[in-house]
Amino acid sequence: MASSGYRNGAHRGSSSTKLDRPLPAANLKSSSFKSRFTPSHSSGSALRRSSPASFSTNDGVPGRVRVAVRLRPQNVEELAADADFADCVELQPELKRLKLRKNNWDSDTYEFDEVLTEFASQKRVYEVVAKPVVESVLDGYNGTVMAYGQTGTGKTFTLGRLGEEDTSDRGIMVRSMEDILADISPETDSVSVSYLQLYMETLQDLLDPSNDNIPIVEDPKTGDVSVPGATLVEIRDQQSFVELLRIGETHRIAANTKLNTESSRSHAILMVHVRRSVIGREEIISSENGDSSHLVKPFKPLVRKSKLVVVDLAGSERIHKSGSEGHMLEEAKSINLSLSALGKCINALAENSAHVPIRDSKLTRLLRDSFGGTARTSLIVTIGPSPRHRGETASTILFGQRAMKVENMLKIKEEFDYKSLSRRLEVQLDKLIAENERQQKAFEDEAERINIEAQNRISEVERSFADALEKERLKCQMDYMESVKQLEEKLVLNQQKHDCDGFMEDKCIGQETGLSAAEDVAEIKKLLEKEIKLRKAAEEEVKNCKRQQGQDMQSEAGGDPEVLKLRKILEDEAHQKKKLEEEIIILRSQLLQLTFEADQMKMYLERGGSGNGFAGLDSSMSPFRHPQYRDSGNGQKASIATLFEQVGLQKILALLESDDANVRIHAVKVVANLAAEEANQKKIVEAGGLSSLLVLLRSFEDETVRRVAAGAIANLAMNEANQELIMIQGGISLLSITAADAEDPQTLRMVAGAIANLCGNDKLRMKLKTEGGIKALLGIVRCEHPDVLSQVARGIANFAKCESRASTQGIYSARSLLIEDGALPWIVQNANNEAAPIRRHVELALCHLAQHEVNAKDMISGGALWELVRISRDCSREDIRSLALRILSSSPTFRSELRRLRIDY
Ligand code: ADP
Ligand code: MG
Repeated sequence: MASSGYRNGAHRGSSSTKLDRPLPAANLKSSSFKSRFTPSHSSGSALRRSSPASFSTNDGVPGRVRVAVRLRPQNVEELAADADFADCVELQPELKRLKLRKNNWDSDTYEFDEVLTEFASQKRVYEVVAKPVVESVLDGYNGTVMAYGQTGTGKTFTLGRLGEEDTSDRGIMVRSMEDILADISPETDSVSVSYLQLYMETLQDLLDPSNDNIPIVEDPKTGDVSVPGATLVEIRDQQSFVELLRIGETHRIAANTKLNTESSRSHAILMVHVRRSVIGREEIISSENGDSSHLVKPFKPLVRKSKLVVVDLAGSERIHKSGSEGHMLEEAKSINLSLSALGKCINALAENSAHVPIRDSKLTRLLRDSFGGTARTSLIVTIGPSPRHRGETASTILFGQRAMKVENMLKIKEEFDYKSLSRRLEVQLDKLIAENERQQKAFEDEAERINIEAQNRISEVERSFADALEKERLKCQMDYMESVKQLEEKLVLNQQKHDCDGFMEDKCIGQETGLSAAEDVAEIKKLLEKEIKLRKAAEEEVKNCKRQQGQDMQSEAGGDPEVLKLRKILEDEAHQKKKLEEEIIILRSQLLQLTFEADQMKMYLERGGSGNGFAGLDSSMSPFRHPQYRDSGNGQKASIATLFEQVGLQKILALLESDDANVRIHAVKVVANLAAEEANQKKIVEAGGLSSLLVLLRSFEDETVRRVAAGAIANLAMNEANQELIMIQGGISLLSITAADAEDPQTLRMVAGAIANLCGNDKLRMKLKTEGGIKALLGIVRCEHPDVLSQVARGIANFAKCESRASTQGIYSARSLLIEDGALPWIVQNANNEAAPIRRHVELALCHLAQHEVNAKDMISGGALWELVRISRDCSREDIRSLALRILSSSPTFRSELRRLRIDY
């Protein structure tokens, strides 16, 4: 409460008429309580709300204390006692005047803001006295409604009636709360209540009787008065509020009984705290250049705290008149202290006095905002009709008249609501986070969808491409098979003719057959020529295209669709060319074969049909000739030589890497056969054939290709120079891998043979061990085919021979790598193998191992000694037998072991 509130003389002077003296009729103003209330309010609560921006926390609104007078109807006692007397007051409610009779002929007239007759309903009393204050409170102002009057004149009736039996009896407290609860929104606003009694300058809590001396606290900065010690109960519904009032009333009676007093001696104070959230608009900010475009910052949350105080004052009668004998003087003084202090303060304010004795009593301290402060205040003075109490009535009226002069300066207390702002921002932030997450997910889903779609498309294209390729392949295959079939048929036909016609016609038929074969050859030659022509044409076309492309590139940008089209054609042509070339090579090789066959046929016919015709000759010249190519040695030599000449090795090798699996298979077979010839081996390796074969070994799952490739490598591995190259190019590991996963005995034979060849090379000994060659060899024995085992045995014998050579030369002195890799058990097991080649190799291997003393102990414990003894006695080969004998007699370890075993040597 600012002290300026006390000195607002200007308003006071102009707004109130002469009040403490009887008023001349001419001066009386007839204005309604409400209309004279500044600022005016409409009563509809929803429409009544002013726009938040129109409020200001700084500018006060002048608001005089409003005073109404209420006359109680005569009670039974008065009806009886005062029957003969006229009432001392006469009311003129329409003029808002009250006449107080002095005597039979004279009366004083007083004007009030409202004059309420004995017939005034509780509803009307509420509406004219309290409702404007309640509305102000809801708008954020503090408000006070106070009843002043002699005991028994209806203060409690006016304020505190609960109206439980008759709802029309409800007093101001109950009706105020009804209006407040109807207007606030439970989500953002709150209402809480304290209920106190002030008796003999002691503040008691009517909601908690044990709390019977509550201090009043004043904020030194703002001057705001509060009673933080009082119980504060939040009100959510009317019923609980009424219940609270009833409890308060009960406690009030109980407290008064304890203190041996009556409720008329105490002041009852109801405090209703209203907290409302309002959305304030930030100031409108001009843009920098001050033009008319404005930016409006977002709303800021504000909170308004207001307080409605309803005070049911103690009886205003003087002690001696209230018939309260027996009370101590001190007590009487105390009881009156607050009331008389209130009177003094109101006098001081009414007279615009420099000093207002606010601090003289607890009541005036509590009500400092209600009189001369920032609250909207309504006072109702209650009077009785009885002339017997004329004096009290007069003093009550005068109190009311003086209070009418008190001018308040209404102010709203608004605070910035940081809590609610942070809550709101948090909600907003969470919303944004959620939205962001949703968008992120949607984006990812979309990306995923596009990705899947693209992949589907790619696989679709790949599928159709593979289908087309497969179709093309099948077609070629069919064509090829068809021509082979035709040739075979012709051949059979020729043979039949020959058989039928007998010896005599042999020559003639032979000529015919020769002729027909010659015709075939001629046909194929034609075909070949045609292909060559086609190829030349294609090459020409390619050249043209290239030229064209060169020109186009010079003149146009690369993105020209025409150029792209041409480029595509060019690529297709190049591809076509490659294919044609491959076909040519195959056709050539076929042609050679056919030529050869035709030659054979001719020779056979010339010889008169004796001999075995097409049956392949013994191919023992090469250990690993592929059965399919078991041909006449001379004929094949010739045909291969021709193939070399006509096609060129490079081109054949290139076919090993062809995209077409059929071409690859064909090519690998040709190369394998070439590799069987010692004369070709060097050439093949020099032309990079070894690498191509190793690649095939690694990359093809096709058993035939692998078998043929391994065979070719085995043949190449016969040559010492190639052996090192195989090693350098990682051949051991590749052969080991193949050895580990191949099932086919032929493949395993080839692989074992290749490794066995490598085992015969002194330089490769260590590498064979470290790169798993020995282990691979031992792994191969799972295939029990004697041809395979024989290769394994050969490999082991080769290795043992190299090792013993190294130790004899003093290069190697350690235990045998074969023993290291666990070969001994297999060696011992197979030393007496039924198959002579296996037995022979193993016997040799045992002798080589035994030659080196460092192996002796292992050999003894592995049972090899017995085998050596057996070899020295039973071996069919004399050289081996004597070698074994020599070793047994020269090795100290063997000798001592034999001695130990008492075996005589
Ligand atoms: P106070 O609180 O001023 O001492 P009360 O409110 O207790 O007075 O009123 C005293 C008696 O007068 C009560 O019985 C009450 O019912 C009655 N009374 C007071 N005012 C009215 C009224 N306006 N109409 C009817 N009865 C009233
Ligand atoms: Mg009372």
